[in-house]
Amino acid sequence: MVDFTLTDEQELLRQLARDFAKNEIMPVAAHHDETGEFPVEVVAKAWEAGLVNTKIPEAYGGLGLGVFESCLIAEELGFGCTGITTAIEANNLAEAPLIVAASDALKKKYLAPMMEEPQMAAYAVTEPGAGSDVAGIKTTAVKKGDTWVINGTKQWITNAAKANWYFVLAKTDPAAGHRGMTGFVVPRDAPGVSVGRKEMNMGQRASDTRQIVFEDVEIPADHVVGEVGHGFKVAMAAFDITRPMVAATAVGLSKRALHESVSYANERKAFGKPISAHQAIAFMIADMATAVEASRLLVWNAAITYDQGKRNSHLAAHAKRFAADEAMRVATDAVQVFGGYGFNREYPVEKLMRDAKIFQIYEGTSQIQRLIISRHVLG
Ligand SMILES: Cc1cc2nc3c(=O)[nH]c(=O)nc-3n(C[C@H](O)[C@H](O)[C@H](O)COP(=O)(O)OP(=O)(O)OC[C@H]3O[C@@H](n4cnc5c(N)ncnc54)[C@H](O)[C@@H]3O)c2cc1C
Repeated sequence: MVDFTLTDEQELLRQLARDFAKNEIMPVAAHHDETGEFPVEVVAKAWEAGLVNTKIPEAYGGLGLGVFESCLIAEELGFGCTGITTAIEANNLAEAPLIVAASDALKKKYLAPMMEEPQMAAYAVTEPGAGSDVAGIKTTAVKKGDTWVINGTKQWITNAAKANWYFVLAKTDPAAGHRGMTGFVVPRDAPGVSVGRKEMNMGQRASDTRQIVFEDVEIPADHVVGEVGHGFKVAMAAFDITRPMVAATAVGLSKRALHESVSYANERKAFGKPISAHQAIAFMIADMATAVEASRLLVWNAAITYDQGKRNSHLAAHAKRFAADEAMRVATDAVQVFGGYGFNREYPVEKLMRDAKIFQIYEGTSQIQRLIISRHVLG
């Protein structure tokens, strides 16, 4: 039987995240968007509330929640502000390769402390010359005795300046294509690590994105995540966990755009009646509501499939692609519902439109999701 009823614990968790978004995120969202200041206090409070690092297993002091429960949280936080949510959720992306593949010792050393204090971590794969084409990265790691020496530059790394450690993908056998890559944990304070200036992004401005340069960074041999030569697989496996969560955050944004549009359309009058009484507006709002429902179902399917121990890569791609593209469309329509006020910073929907765009780009563009889906469908 298919049943979408949440358990009491799941309902409580969702309510906790909903209250957090309302009380802690929404009041400060515009400030962080305007200034680009990192929401240090909000992230610390989210950590206190148990809303961060939700996938760390209980064996390492974590909550050991499922992808499904993590998605319930992400949607509610995303309703509040997707920029602040990205700052909170980026830890999951860095932690996922370790959860999937790291040794027990490495998990104890790097995952357990995340639960003891509000630490941060970042996933460093993209480079100035290679984003979608991960096999095109240039960062190298060369074995020298008991250490690996890492050289290279990573680009657009979320939480780069805040992180205590990075998951870094590097080439250990440059001639072997994606089979010649290895994942490493690199402590932020390792000599030779330097972090660039904060990028001035269009949206999700509360989140901190920077370049990281690794110059002869020596790390111990046991900091390899999984096996040497398996880094590409490990880095991609992380997305099975995080793409549903990113998609859930996009659902939160769509739900917020719908909510703002409904309030405005019932208030604003044109030609003697509320604009919601004009069918063109009412149908636009109906399509927004369908987008929220359909995106959420794809998210839940991808998340539950993962939690059942089954392969979900194509379902995660469906959810990410659809929820991202719909968030962009829904936010654009919300601006239309608001008319001239939609184009103005004093009103909430222009931020939603700017914030929505990145969902079609990070964690694999919408084109890359279609590539994954088409390969699955075409066999
Ligand atoms: C705000 C922000 C935060 C980010 N955070 C992180 C992070 O924490 N860690 C990290 O490692 N990276 C991060 N990224 C990087 C992000 O994942 C990449 O920007 C993304 O994967 C796209 O890579 P690219 O920018 O190099 O674009 P490109 O790969 O150069 O793509 C350019 C265009 O070509 C299209 N394209 C490329 N290849 C194909 C193809 N085969 N078929 C069809 N179309 C194709 C793309 O879809 C896109 O439209 C972040 C980026 C941003 C902007």
